[in-house]
Amino acid sequence: MKKIAILGSTGSIGTQTLEIVREQKDIEVLGISAGSNVKLLEQQIREFKPRLACIWTEADAKDLRVRLKDLNVRILSGMEGLIELAVMEEVEILVTAIVGMIGIRPTIAAIEHGKTIALANKETLVTAGHIIMPLAKKNNVPIYPVDSEHSAIFQSLNGENPKEIEKLLLTASGGPFRGKTMEELQHVGVKDALKHPNWSMGRKITIDSATLVNKGLEVIEAKWLFDIEPERIEVVVQPQSIIHSMVQYVDGGIMAQLGTPDMKLPIQYALYYPERRALGGKRVNFFELGQMTFEKPDTKNFRGLDLAYRAITQGGSMPTVFNAANEKAVALFLDGKIRFLQIAELIETAMDAHKIIDAPDVTQILETEEATYDVISTQFLK
Ligand code: NDP
Ligand code: MG
Repeated sequence: MKKIAILGSTGSIGTQTLEIVREQKDIEVLGISAGSNVKLLEQQIREFKPRLACIWTEADAKDLRVRLKDLNVRILSGMEGLIELAVMEEVEILVTAIVGMIGIRPTIAAIEHGKTIALANKETLVTAGHIIMPLAKKNNVPIYPVDSEHSAIFQSLNGENPKEIEKLLLTASGGPFRGKTMEELQHVGVKDALKHPNWSMGRKITIDSATLVNKGLEVIEAKWLFDIEPERIEVVVQPQSIIHSMVQYVDGGIMAQLGTPDMKLPIQYALYYPERRALGGKRVNFFELGQMTFEKPDTKNFRGLDLAYRAITQGGSMPTVFNAANEKAVALFLDGKIRFLQIAELIETAMDAHKIIDAPDVTQILETEEATYDVISTQFLK
């Protein structure tokens, strides 16, 4: 039996991970956690019987303890609970399916305890990649990507020499607003932004896909995972989402991974690497598909991507500002408090106001996050 724990088991990646557990039958789930979805977490505890579960507030944890008094499960709360879950003794793989920078501390703790990481939580790598990657190397801990593009690159690197990479070709769907003019983007609402053409995902990443911030986060994620300069990472819009990303080698040869858009493939690949397990679902039918098309990203109307390149080029604490400002702005947008185009504006304002700290430690990263939230709140109240 493979023993895993999941940070964020009630979300889009978390529930799909549990579907794989259900189908494969040789994975034991020792720990799961949620932010506030008590009901689903209770169902998951009853079905998967983990030894430990964690929910963010102590009030919810108390409620769960009462609901689950017939079961032998420890219920914890807060950051301490997440860290305890991340380092559980027998766990071999930690699936980081939590959203946002809250994943930094538990991920670091897991690596320090030698756990393999199946990483979906890109915000952690974007803001603390300079800490996490050397730490993983030092502890001999593999980090397997769950993000579909990075999994595709990882798969396209099989049997190849990373020194022979010319560039990475990171594909993007273009999101729900691809092709829209600035004038049209003034009027788009939350409902429109939540309608992704090809992928069904959590709310935050769906908005990030609409702004192209997600692709920006992925460029930074790829830089850390594959140790490659951002100038050698090119974004290619491939609206059908069949090519999940590509690696171009020095001889001009390109290796790619293709498939229907289904996150279960990259999740399962990360859990079983280097083995490939059978997975049901739709196959690509090239005759039905007819054609695949390619475009340059529209960086004029969707500024998220260029802001990400700026953040990673400036380096230090700037990617944290980019990410934290985006997290806050997306939350305000989802609450109906700002317009779609203001997301990029607020990110830029926060980045302009920031004085870069070189190689920030975890405390400085989290202080920068707080300071960025303050800048956005002040800006927002103006
Ligand atoms: P969701 O919003 O669907 O799920 C987030 C999970 O994190 C939920 O289980 C949520 O619990 C939990 N969570 C949130 N806050 C806390 C907290 N304070 N303490 C404990 N748990 C918490 O997100 P996704 O699954 O879409 O995304 C997860 C990560 O994976 C993100 O970093 C995203 O960028 C990345 N990713 C996602 C993809 C996808 O297809 N969805 C594709 C590639 C990457 P609750 O349900 O209670 O709120
Ligand atoms: Mg992705």
